[in-house]
Amino acid sequence: MADLETFRAETRAWLEANCPPEVRGPRDGDEDYVWGGRNAVFKTPAHKLWLDRMAERGWTAPEWPSAYGGGGLNREEAKVLASEMRRIKAQMPLASFGIWMLGPALLAFGTEEQKQRFLPPIVRGEIRWCQGYSEPGSGSDLASIQTRAEDRGDHWIVNGQKVWTSYADKA
Ligand SMILES: Cc1cc2nc3c(=O)[nH]c(=O)nc-3n(C[C@H](O)[C@H](O)[C@H](O)COP(=O)(O)OP(=O)(O)OC[C@H]3O[C@@H](n4cnc5c(N)ncnc54)[C@H](O)[C@@H]3O)c2cc1C
Repeated sequence: MADLETFRAETRAWLEANCPPEVRGPRDGDEDYVWGGRNAVFKTPAHKLWLDRMAERGWTAPEWPSAYGGGGLNREEAKVLASEMRRIKAQMPLASFGIWMLGPALLAFGTEEQKQRFLPPIVRGEIRWCQGYSEPGSGSDLASIQTRAEDRGDHWIVNGQKVWTSYADKA
């Protein structure tokens, strides 16, 4: 537990020194969210600075292995980080379907090549992702999905239809 208290003190000091005032306190609205991606929009330069500083430590994905750009924290350390961020009302540095949805699936089921290729840019907020599970004839029953991408040599034919693909236009 002494280790955890040391971690808390170091985390508190780092956050105090590195979390810009502009990203502390309640968000004004959805435009405060940083979603990242190739066409990332930042409300202020401080929002970009906050993302970059947190991503460099892997703290946009605190519990992912550091080998893939994550923070390498254990569950207890991650809770300390979250509580110290709450203490100073630090906003989430990155809102990301990559962190919430794709990344955990890759960590559990992906190949080593997929993890090395996709996880670090997700941590840094460089790419946005969406998930296309649901289809007109298929919701939670993922085994019933029909859409296939057929390889035609120099292009793919997407043979079917998706629905409910949140932020598909941004991904
Ligand atoms: C705002 C919003 C955003 C979304 N964004 C995305 C997205 O970005 N990407 C994406 O892929 N999907 C997205 N979805 C779709 C979401 O994943 C689906 O709503 C979900 O898969 C459930 O499908 P469904 O609504 O067709 O319900 P169904 O799967 O048709 O289920 C209908 C009802 O039957 C029940 N049921 C289902 N299967 C069984 C079973 N075997 N036995 C007993 N009961 C069962 C369910 O519990 C439910 O109450 C979004 C949905 C919403 C509302």
